[in-house]
Amino acid sequence: MHELGIVMNVLEQVDALAAEYEAEKVMKVTMEVGEVSSIVPDLFTDAFDWAKKKTKYLQEAELEMIIIEGRTYCRGCGATYKTTEHGKICPHCGSRDTYLLTGDQVIIKDIAAVFDE
Ligand SMILES: [Zn+2]
Repeated sequence: MHELGIVMNVLEQVDALAAEYEAEKVMKVTMEVGEVSSIVPDLFTDAFDWAKKKTKYLQEAELEMIIIEGRTYCRGCGATYKTTEHGKICPHCGSRDTYLLTGDQVIIKDIAAVFDE
């Protein structure tokens, strides 16, 4: 399960940021996850809940995931289309000369933390 490696990486980054900004604790991490990234949301959430126990600042943190639709662009006809329905072949002209515009990202979008007074 490679989600765990990605989660560990995210948690390390957030933990380091929390330390840098002298937060008391992190309450919530919002991630943008593309629907054609290799992330399985349920596994990612499970990994998050397991791995956060090993951090200093994220013991009580919850995870929010915003799923970003996969969109592919066709060089053949200039159209864009939904990647999950049509894959690499353009449904408008049949071209295979296409590339993914968006939908494979795994990004930390927002971090909500509590600070000491
Ligand atoms: Zn096309």
